[in-house]
Amino acid sequence: MSRIFNFSAGPCTLPLGVLEQARDEMVEYHGQGMSIIEMSHRGKTYDTIHHESMDLVRELLNLPDNYRVLLLGGGATLQFSMVPMNLLHGGKSCDFTFTGAWAKKALADTKKVGKVNLVFDGTDSSFTTLPDPASVKASSDAAYLHLISNETIGGVQWQEWPDIGSVPLVADMSSDFLSRHIPVDRFGLIYAGAQKNVGPAGMAVVIIRQDILDACSPDLTSYLSYPSHAKTDSMLNTPPVFTIYMMKLVLERLRDAGGLDAAEQLATKRSDLLYNVIESQGSFYRCPVDSACRSKTNVVFRLPTEDLEKQFVAEADAQGMSGLKGHRSVGGCRASIYNAMPVEGAETLARFMTAFAKQHS
Ligand SMILES: *Cc1c(COP(=O)(O)O)cnc(C)c1O
Repeated sequence: MSRIFNFSAGPCTLPLGVLEQARDEMVEYHGQGMSIIEMSHRGKTYDTIHHESMDLVRELLNLPDNYRVLLLGGGATLQFSMVPMNLLHGGKSCDFTFTGAWAKKALADTKKVGKVNLVFDGTDSSFTTLPDPASVKASSDAAYLHLISNETIGGVQWQEWPDIGSVPLVADMSSDFLSRHIPVDRFGLIYAGAQKNVGPAGMAVVIIRQDILDACSPDLTSYLSYPSHAKTDSMLNTPPVFTIYMMKLVLERLRDAGGLDAAEQLATKRSDLLYNVIESQGSFYRCPVDSACRSKTNVVFRLPTEDLEKQFVAEADAQGMSGLKGHRSVGGCRASIYNAMPVEGAETLARFMTAFAKQHS
């Protein structure tokens, strides 16, 4: 077997131990005579996994009692609809920070549902920077202020959070969920697609404060309504059982490896390795992102020419480092280094980058 270092933005690398455990448990789950994806989701075996998965999120983030954890199909993209449908009923408006490609998508869907006020627009900087959090002010009538904690394509990441008093923050944390500590009580709602730090694709983890849950629109069809998922403990319909099972395996390992303290340290270590090479090879590499908000999970960089970028990606691939091509909308290169990326992967890439620069400078 030869596993390569996979720097893809998502789906992305998962811990090898999790894949091996899932393999070993796949055909017959713990003496049940069948696999986890074949048994009833209403049975005791699955029910235990379901609740353990949600409890692990609670434990890792040290969630206060007035927050609920929901596991919903549809990925983060469905949350672009569900958030405004649930929170903006009755003519309410929200504030938005327009920070890049994911904010653009969330914004487009939100505008179809309710009123949106832009409190930051990064268009002029080509989305290479974020506002100073202290300068972000919420509108007095905003139901919430939406932000993307880490722009997966542009590589900008909030380091500190706006302090906007009683207006709750709503955050898409898809690409840095559980990679660092966050002050949960500043957030009214957090959502994250599963396929970056949590498991396979097709699901979102949603964390919602009880008072916001209580005030959600009463007029939505069942699947679109947070309260109907909360009432049924995310068992309104058949949940994405395989993703939830994999999430349990991933989060158990994260907890046993030291939880968010360890995740945060490793994210810093991996990203420092890459940013240090970018800064230390003269002007060969260039990170377009403002140094105050460079992402620790998606490191974006350019080489002197597009031809060299192509060659870089191809040679890295040949040496067992895949997925380094930047998103098609922005070009360049991108190394996605989520929780499951071994430090050795970042070290190997850093060595390759140094050698490539020396060879082509
Ligand atoms: C990947 C990603 C999404 C989309 O997630 P899906 O599960 O594909 O819907 C949304 N927001 C951010 C920040 C992402 O990185």
